[in-house]
Amino acid sequence: MATITMKFGGTSVGSVEAITNVVAITKREVAAGHHVALVVSAMSRVTDGLLNVIKMAESGDKWGYQSEIQKMRERHEETLNALVAPGKTRDSVALALNKLLDEVVEICHAVNILSEASPRIRDAIVSYGERLSARLVAAALVENGIHSKALDATQYVITDDKFGSAAPMWAETERRIRDGLLPQMQAGLAPVLTGFIGATKDGATTTLGRGGSDFSGAIFAAYTRSDELVIWTDVDGVMTTDPRIDRRAKVLDHVSYTEVGELAYYGAKVLHPKTVQPVLDLEVPIRVRNTFNYDHPGTLITAQSEAASTVIKAVTAVRGVSLLTVSGRGMIGVPGVAGRVFTAAARAKANVLMFSQSSSEQAMCLVVPDDMAVAAKDAIEEDLQQEIDRRNVEGVTIQSQVGIVTVVGSGMRGTPGVSGRVFSATGSKGINVLMIAQGSSECSISFLVEDADLKDTVYTLHELAL
Ligand code: ADP
Ligand code: ASP
Ligand code: MG
Repeated sequence: MATITMKFGGTSVGSVEAITNVVAITKREVAAGHHVALVVSAMSRVTDGLLNVIKMAESGDKWGYQSEIQKMRERHEETLNALVAPGKTRDSVALALNKLLDEVVEICHAVNILSEASPRIRDAIVSYGERLSARLVAAALVENGIHSKALDATQYVITDDKFGSAAPMWAETERRIRDGLLPQMQAGLAPVLTGFIGATKDGATTTLGRGGSDFSGAIFAAYTRSDELVIWTDVDGVMTTDPRIDRRAKVLDHVSYTEVGELAYYGAKVLHPKTVQPVLDLEVPIRVRNTFNYDHPGTLITAQSEAASTVIKAVTAVRGVSLLTVSGRGMIGVPGVAGRVFTAAARAKANVLMFSQSSSEQAMCLVVPDDMAVAAKDAIEEDLQQEIDRRNVEGVTIQSQVGIVTVVGSGMRGTPGVSGRVFSATGSKGINVLMIAQGSSECSISFLVEDADLKDTVYTLHELAL
């Protein structure tokens, strides 16, 4: 008898049809005698809706947030009514959903009065999306004879207090899942857990970052000692590129943790970049599958990597980044400049996605998210003020409207000529490459192009993966 953790994304719980498929998938696993845990995202667009509600409450648009919440109420209620026959269960779940949404209204009134939502309040509000969907899905399972109930992850996933992108405290989380959740599953319960959210030790609700339900799924898979983590989503698996960018994208049968880690970090939305973290050491296999095409085997993700005949397996892109260049002839031989630049960027809380230094040490290039660029530039200039005054450093320039393109494939290690193929392909299309870096795992090459060239670059390089 196996234990399986199944995470269902926003689209996979976003409609009556989707939840009907979730029920069918769960039934199949239960019938096969497996213990299952479900981890769910909010219904599609609900998290964005809640963020929008916060904005309206902050700006005093009382009518705006009330009507948005009313729409959520109707959507959840209509979905419930289509999935669960009239009766006691339906009434009590409807009551629970309405009570949750009443709480959202209450918190929004407070935000409205204060004209401000702290990170803590923001997390409290966005967490309701998952609380609602978990109740809805559990009700649908119960209606179909599956022993289930909704459980808030706040009692299991204990995190630090970095609201908006909280990090789990592993030992405590493990203990709570092992002692609190696992026995219930062993007694035959198929719990529906809220993805995306956790709580601090004192009980304040936190969130793990946008798209974080995949990470939640992996946390539960690891500590329920699951034999498999299945990420149920709206595409057939991990693909050679985002099918929204290039319709020729194909499903990959198998990728390694390292490969998928690079893909996710550099923009493949199909998995949150932290998903592999909890399951890596335990080597829990991950499968990415399609809720709307559930007989397709999907993509298997394990520790093993195998080279593809094309060497390059997949291509991804990240938009919305800026290139910072620190330059100056006097940087040659100034000790510790690189360290100071990174420390200053870190002080500005800028996440450096990619960097390079030219060998003459006359320039350092850093790529950071757009919204961090000015803060990072200011922090670096402040730190290097003396060198700037002495004209050893010219200063920091920002080039925005650039994007990172990454090609991934474990076969790159030890296959000569891969970068040659990549850059002759971009060269033949006249695409200007602004900066290049090879991933430390040696299974990826990332480079920077102008936003205007991004789509074309992905399209061109994707051909090398097909
Ligand atoms: P969920 O709500 O199930 O978490 P997401 O929207 O977060 O789903 O992620 C799935 C989406 O990721 C797909 O619909 C697809 O457009 C996008 N995507 C981006 N890159 C890839 C890729 N390499 N393989 C598959 N899907 C990708
Ligand atoms: N609902 C959250 C989001 O939209 C988490 C997730 O879907 O993974 O970011
Ligand atoms: Mg997602």
